Amino acid sequence: MNPMKMRPFGPLQVPLPSVGQGTWMMENEKAGAIRALRTGIDLGATHIDTAELYGSGRVEELVGEAIQGLRDRVFLVSKVLPSNASYEGTIQACEQSLKRLGTDRLECYLLHWPGSYALEDTFRAFDHLLQDGKIRTYGVSNFDTKEMREAVAIAGKDRILCNQVLYHIGERAVEHELLPWCGENQIALVAYSPLGQGNFPKKSGLLAKIAETHQATPEQVALAFLLRSPHVFVIPKASREEHVRANAGAADLELTPGEIAELEKAFPTGPKRTLPTL
Ligand code: NAP
Repeated sequence: MNPMKMRPFGPLQVPLPSVGQGTWMMENEKAGAIRALRTGIDLGATHIDTAELYGSGRVEELVGEAIQGLRDRVFLVSKVLPSNASYEGTIQACEQSLKRLGTDRLECYLLHWPGSYALEDTFRAFDHLLQDGKIRTYGVSNFDTKEMREAVAIAGKDRILCNQVLYHIGERAVEHELLPWCGENQIALVAYSPLGQGNFPKKSGLLAKIAETHQATPEQVALAFLLRSPHVFVIPKASREEHVRANAGAADLELTPGEIAELEKAFPTGPKRTLPTL
């Protein structure tokens, strides 16, 4: 297999693979999940997303085991809970995540969703962690366009690397405004639940038909559809090795303009509405 294609991630233009790996709910699938994560890293899916929330820390511990011996190849992302996102709380939460992950730094640290602590305080803590070398960059998650504008006004231009949001072929609300806005501002849009948590609509066999043309799977087509925008990255979660292999393969799948148009028609964006979240 060829090495996975990279694309520039956020304002720093860090080259990252378009397909990464999610880890939510891996805590009850530990052995398989560790194998799958390691296989994924070997296949180039080195962007690994986790959070202090997942399994109340148990997923970070599992990720720590999975990346042992592979740490330097991984772009490791974790997230602080909004309820911990005060200045002191963010610093403490990060230090605890690092301990569970068995590492000394995160490549990117995200605020999991907007909360009640002032963003100024959270970002000040992120800056402190940057200076200490405990994080390399930071970003946000579940921020709508208005919240992104406010966040950039506080953090300054080119400071926020990414916004991680719900985006899959059956849930295209971000395409109305947030996705183009992120593109214009060179902020990476990281699609979470890019397979709709395994339940994306397979609508009248269109995904299967396009998949067959490419000798691919409907899930690979669904991921490739999201990757048609150059600043989108996907982080499917897979505890099974066959899934992680398929997901890595999606990075090489190029849909034709005709196929994209068919999919856009079959899976419409729907009316403009507030940012959907899980
Ligand atoms: P997802 O990635 O859309 O779907 C995961 C499900 O799809 C699992 O059941 C998995 O099965 C299955 N699957 C994976 N690859 C497949 C393939 N190639 N073919 C068929 N089935 C496949 O759902 P998600 O876990 O909600 O989202 C991905 C990641 O995004 C999370 O794990 C988490 O890291 C992140 N996330 C972030 C937020 C946030 O608020 N920032 C919210 C939700 C999720 P197996 O596991 O059995 O292989």
